[in-house]
Amino acid sequence: DTPGSIADILMRIIPVNPVRAAAEGDILGLIFFAIVFGFAITQLPEKQRGGFLAFFDAGFEAMMKLTRGVIRLAPIGVFGLIARAVSLMGGGDLFQAVGKYMLTITLGLTIHFLIVLPVLFYLLTRKSPLLHYRAMASAMAMAFSASSSSATLPLTLESMRKNAGISNKVSSFVLPMGATINMDGTALYECAGVLFIAQALGIDLDFGAQVLVVITALLASIGAAGIPSAGLVMIFIVLQAVNITTPAAYAMVGLMLAVDRPLDMYRTVVNITSDSIGAAIIAHSEGEDLAYPMAMEKDTA
Ligand code: ASP
Repeated sequence: DTPGSIADILMRIIPVNPVRAAAEGDILGLIFFAIVFGFAITQLPEKQRGGFLAFFDAGFEAMMKLTRGVIRLAPIGVFGLIARAVSLMGGGDLFQAVGKYMLTITLGLTIHFLIVLPVLFYLLTRKSPLLHYRAMASAMAMAFSASSSSATLPLTLESMRKNAGISNKVSSFVLPMGATINMDGTALYECAGVLFIAQALGIDLDFGAQVLVVITALLASIGAAGIPSAGLVMIFIVLQAVNITTPAAYAMVGLMLAVDRPLDMYRTVVNITSDSIGAAIIAHSEGEDLAYPMAMEKDTA
């Protein structure tokens, strides 16, 4: 079925039958149901909630084990996918296209990182973004080298508490949640990635389909784990939502996997920076004084 109008898309998000949505691979409906269901679980009495949590936790861990196993085999698959993509499209054109793709994403992430986030921060806290970025420097370096929001979380927490002076109450609520669900860089990356595949294969995405890409990429980024290349894996969901499911499209994903590391490093930095800016804005709205004690200290030293 085609993506259709925006109204259609919004209607499609709410599944009439969640079990059927799962069986038929209606990812958008399934994610929507999972979010509402997860919220309902938080409303249960402790005893029932604990049972559900243990069940889903175990399921999550089992899936992670499985995924790690598959990822270990990935190099062989990537070899096959790239060989196929090159044979389909010709080497020169393909490498040029991939170069442009990497450049586009880098540019997009840079605009978000150096313009959108600082402006948002300044407008909502009236503090200098420089102070905040300086406070986050070591966490950014860690995110850059580890490509993982989750692995960086302890450092993000420490940076916000020590360097920014944000209370434990706000930071320990906002940051762990942000590290798992708030991934601006990943969402941006997925949108650009899907458009790249569509363009490379000559598939025309109309406006409705593009809106669908944005919505699904946002949901997929929420679902992506804070581990290396998780965002790339979630791209299949977005592709499926706009019906790009040909083997050639999957071959392109393989190609993207081959060059994913540097992009992953950068988008992870954007992801954790946006978490920390969220934490600062919330701390400010809670009446906390954003003192940036450590960042100030370094300033005067
Ligand atoms: N590596 C990213 C993160 O941990 C997720 C992604 O692959 O986009 O934030």
